[in-house]
Amino acid sequence: MPAHKRILLKLSGEALMGDDAYGINRATIVRMVQEVREITQLGVEVAVVIGGGNIFRGVAGGSVGMDRATADYMGMLATVMNSLALADTMRQEGMTARVMSAIAIEQVVEPYVRPKALQYLEEGKVVIFAAGTGNPFFTTDTAAALRGAEIGAEIVLKATKVDGVYTADPKKDPSATRYTRISFDEAITKNLQVLDATAFALCRDQKLPIKVFSIFKPGALKRVVLGEDEGTLVHV
Ligand code: UDP
Repeated sequence: MPAHKRILLKLSGEALMGDDAYGINRATIVRMVQEVREITQLGVEVAVVIGGGNIFRGVAGGSVGMDRATADYMGMLATVMNSLALADTMRQEGMTARVMSAIAIEQVVEPYVRPKALQYLEEGKVVIFAAGTGNPFFTTDTAAALRGAEIGAEIVLKATKVDGVYTADPKKDPSATRYTRISFDEAITKNLQVLDATAFALCRDQKLPIKVFSIFKPGALKRVVLGEDEGTLVHV
């Protein structure tokens, strides 16, 4: 039995790159979608927010020297590309997904309409929220917290490269240990980076728990959804 009825899964754009330096790696996106398919087969309602860092970020790389808002809109458009790739891969893997964009691009993707998103979720379709929050100066972490709260998700699942939140950087400090669970207050006191500050504050205000886990560990997403000891739970 899954531990959650409805979840918001936050995937970073970089997770789609695999070992490539840029863009979308085919084998990687297929593997990721298969992990998501496993949890939909458990009857969990799944909404996804995907980043754009594998293509463009408003604060680094090609955006240096650019007007920040313009660069951020480019970053949001990158998330639309990733969302379309994700939805199409889901279609190939026998799933039904709908992309809803926070920015109107009506020839390409339907706009975000909350009641419609809720309807799709109830119908068992995967909903992919594209274009972040639709506003510059924000991140897709914040979009995940915002949409997660809006659709009444029980938890935000933050997929990262590391399998949870550690007492120190495990790459630098071999004695670092993983927290199984930690409260919002403790994470703040210990200055642990779970989501960016805006997203973290929103989840805390809305009493929306966060689970940090590794998307590269096979079966980890399923174990998270089944409520098993995997990753780190940030609780109220
Ligand atoms: N972005 C934005 N507003 C949002 C979400 C994203 O302006 O609500 C832009 C921002 O420039 C960001 C880029 O889109 O750098 C890609 O998103 P993010 O960095 O969150 O992607 P990730 O790191 O998860 O791949």
